[in-house]
Amino acid sequence: MKDERSKLARAGDILAGIGARVKGTPSESKGAAATTEAPRADWKSSIPYKEERGDTFVICCVDPRFSRETEEFLAEHLKLEHPTVMAIPGSAAPLLPLVGFAHKLVKGWLDTLLGKIRPKRIVCIAHEDCAAYQTTGNAILNFMFQTATHGTVQDLQRKHLKDAKVTFETWFHGVAVDIYYAEVTSEPDGSKRVTFNKVE
Ligand SMILES: [Zn+2]
Repeated sequence: MKDERSKLARAGDILAGIGARVKGTPSESKGAAATTEAPRADWKSSIPYKEERGDTFVICCVDPRFSRETEEFLAEHLKLEHPTVMAIPGSAAPLLPLVGFAHKLVKGWLDTLLGKIRPKRIVCIAHEDCAAYQTTGNAILNFMFQTATHGTVQDLQRKHLKDAKVTFETWFHGVAVDIYYAEVTSEPDGSKRVTFNKVE
């Protein structure tokens, strides 16, 4: 039991480390407005609160560069009106059985979020230039790289998405799982977009 707790604590450290790198990577913080103080007044949403929770889960990375495009993709393309979105540093990476303790931690989060709802559909999205897949001082992530096949980082991420799909299908029998890789693409006018490629 004690061992189990220390493993979970270690998983938390690793995730926090990935999160810190996401925040600290210069390319990833570009464009974010730095605010040091919140307005004093309270604030009320203009949108009415809805009690119900959907039966669709989305797992994506915390990287803010992809968050607006991901929201648009979920609403406009997948037509998901009220999904439960869980952002985890590295998206599918902590779900790998190789990272066994983080794997259990994520399952625990899902169970807590889900309550008695069984997910009918799970969408998992990895993205280009993910900080969790960059050179790291973390021994476990380095091990993941060393044991990977001789493909590109994108190949590795796509493999991890497929592994995560198997994990979800094992955890939740009968669930439909869709996996996507988000990449930055250029428009003829020089501007950039995010294209969500379905991984088969
Ligand atoms: Zn990421």
